[in-house]
Formats: sequence, C-alpha cells, structure tokens
Amino acid sequence: MLVRPPSGKHVLWQEMLRHELLAALEDRPVVLVPVGSVEQHGPHCPQDVDISIPYHLAIAAADRIDEFPVIVAPPVTFGFTHYNMGEVGTITLGLEVFIAVLCDVARSIWANGFRRIVLLNGHGGNQAPTWSASVKLAEEDVWALALTYWTMATDELRDWSEADDGSIGHGGEWETSLQLHLRPDLVAMDRAVKDEWRLPFGPEVGRFAVFPERRREMEHGVMGNPLVASAEKGERLFNVLLDRLVTLCREYHAAEPPRYRQFGSHCP
Ligand SMILES: [Zn+2]
Repeated sequence: MLVRPPSGKHVLWQEMLRHELLAALEDRPVVLVPVGSVEQHGPHCPQDVDISIPYHLAIAAADRIDEFPVIVAPPVTFGFTHYNMGEVGTITLGLEVFIAVLCDVARSIWANGFRRIVLLNGHGGNQAPTWSASVKLAEEDVWALALTYWTMATDELRDWSEADDGSIGHGGEWETSLQLHLRPDLVAMDRAVKDEWRLPFGPEVGRFAVFPERRREMEHGVMGNPLVASAEKGERLFNVLLDRLVTLCREYHAAEPPRYRQFGSHCP
C-alpha cells in the first residue's frame, strides 16, 4: 500500500532527495508518522484498515499544506494486536518490540534534526503503547506527539452514529465507511455482518472500567455494524479528521515542543 498525493507533490520521506530534506529542515517542518496494524477486520474488510486510514490522512494533510513542509514518514505498519490472532490474517508485534520500534523511529527522525514529530495512530490496541512510547521519549527530551485519529472527532462520531454509538468499532459502521470512501474496491459489502459488543460491565461502569483485550470474542471478528456504513459517511468523517490534522500541523509548525530546560538556563 504505497499512497502518493494525486498532485505529485513530494511528501514521502523515503522518496525525497537529500536536498529536499535539507531544504525542509530550514522551515520548521512537521513529520507525520502513520502508525497502524495488520489484522483481521471481519469478513468484508482488508487486513490493513488501521494503517490505511492514518496513512491517507497524513498524505492528504501533507498535500494540502503549502506554507511549510509536512513530510510523511514510512508507515509503521505492524502494531500490537495479539488479541486479533483468533482469525486468519493478523500479524502482531510484542508490546516491548512495538514500543521500541516507535521509539527508534522517532529518535532517528529527531536525530536528523526534525523537531515536530506526530505519531498518528489508527489502531485501538496501539493507543496506550503509542502514548507510552511518547512518554519514554520525553524522558530523553525527544518529542513525538502521540495521538489516535478518531479522538480528533469524538463529538462528530457520537452525533453521526446510526448504530455504533460513537465508537470507531472494528470493521463496523465507521471503519467500513472510511474504507468505502478511501478504497471501495477492497471492501466486500456482500460479506458484511454485524457483531454485538460483549462487555463485562454495564454502560455506566463500562465508561471507566475497561480491561485490556486478550481474545476478540465476537462471532465474526467485527465490533459494530458495517451494514449502515456508506462512502458518504466515510467522506464526511475523513474531511473533519483532515481539517483537524491540518490545524494541528499549522499550530505545531508555529509552536515548539516542550523541551527540557536546565534551571537558570534562561538567565543571560
Ligand atoms: Zn480497525
């Protein structure tokens, strides 16, 4: 899955020439690192849903912003998803390996002189580990802002959900809609089925009491209802996410990472 912006603009780190990277360093560039997973997504979606969405968002944001450089790093395609191993197609990294990969990628980008790094995650199981990587890096004064794409549009997800109650789910209403918008040729809607959520606690307690997953126990490996998905809903959500990501890039371009300062270092 190699995505390039339709405009032909050079935004992919791995395809840029040395003079282009050096020129980008002159203008407070933002580097977006798509982070995802390869895992089963029910009978109707491909395995790479969770990396494809942040990857497409990053490319679209880099394509849209012309005032300063936004570079898309090679995607971190493998994630932490042992609990999806029950269905064919899943490839997972161990927790420590995944965090170590994120840290080494961010350290390398930082060592190249790039100071505005965003780890743009697209997989639920990666949320805590990606945040942990950013916490670990902060201790070294290396700054990689960790975020998961659907947290940029929690209000819209809640307001627009017909079936999945504001959740991004797994091969459900919203992931399937985003795929129908981005890559309709890879979705087999005639195979789509919905699965019920099975949670140990009621809705009130379930809001704050959540176990990590061990095995995804839904009958078809889906969380949510893909039968109400549509390309139009996917496009609507994608555009909101893209607007927020573009705004983040612009604000980060203007800001500095919160770097460590020795006491008294501000004194002349
Ligand atoms: Zn997913």
